[in-house]
Amino acid sequence: MKRKLVFATNNAHKLDEVREVVKDNFEILSLKDIGCYEDIAEPGETLQENALIKARYVKEKYGYDSFGDDTGLEVEALDGAPGVYSARYAGEGHDAKANMKKLLENLKGIENRKACFRSVIALILDGKEYLFEGRIDGAIIEEEKGSAGFGYDPIFMPDGYNETFAELGMDVKNNISHRALAVKKLCEFLKGI
Ligand code: IMP
Repeated sequence: MKRKLVFATNNAHKLDEVREVVKDNFEILSLKDIGCYEDIAEPGETLQENALIKARYVKEKYGYDSFGDDTGLEVEALDGAPGVYSARYAGEGHDAKANMKKLLENLKGIENRKACFRSVIALILDGKEYLFEGRIDGAIIEEEKGSAGFGYDPIFMPDGYNETFAELGMDVKNNISHRALAVKKLCEFLKGI
């Protein structure tokens, strides 16, 4: 029988990505699959803290080994902001347009446009905690370009490319992204178990 492992998310895209890679060894359950319908709070001040909070929540309340993730966009000239607050940079809710508008305003007239996306995955397995990180460097351009993806994709241009994540599309992005790299590290670890 395959081992059960909870991914502390209900994001279908994230679930599919991991399920496909570890399908021979693990059955990946979502929060809904284990009857967890509450929103897990993300009060941490770092991505690592929030990822751990999600994984520990599932372990403590539902008893399953689990992993959680958190992602942020870190802009060098803004001392790493929006970072762990990326989803709610312009206020509560997940209004990507408002978040991008605020970021572009805060970067007006600033030459240094360097930024990176960082994803952290925290895994609890057999009583131990593990962390996996993926990062992609790039730059924040002056205005939105492209329509694929989500969040800050229209204004983030990864190094080595002349198009934003939103122009490159999901196929390219899913091969090079911060999340893809973190997931790859997690999956390599799980496959070796
Ligand atoms: P989450 O931890 O994956 O939910 O990401 C938190 C926030 O970071 C999202 O609400 C987005 O604003 C931003 N974000 C995360 N990943 C991406 C991405 O791949 N592209 C653009 N924005 C992202």
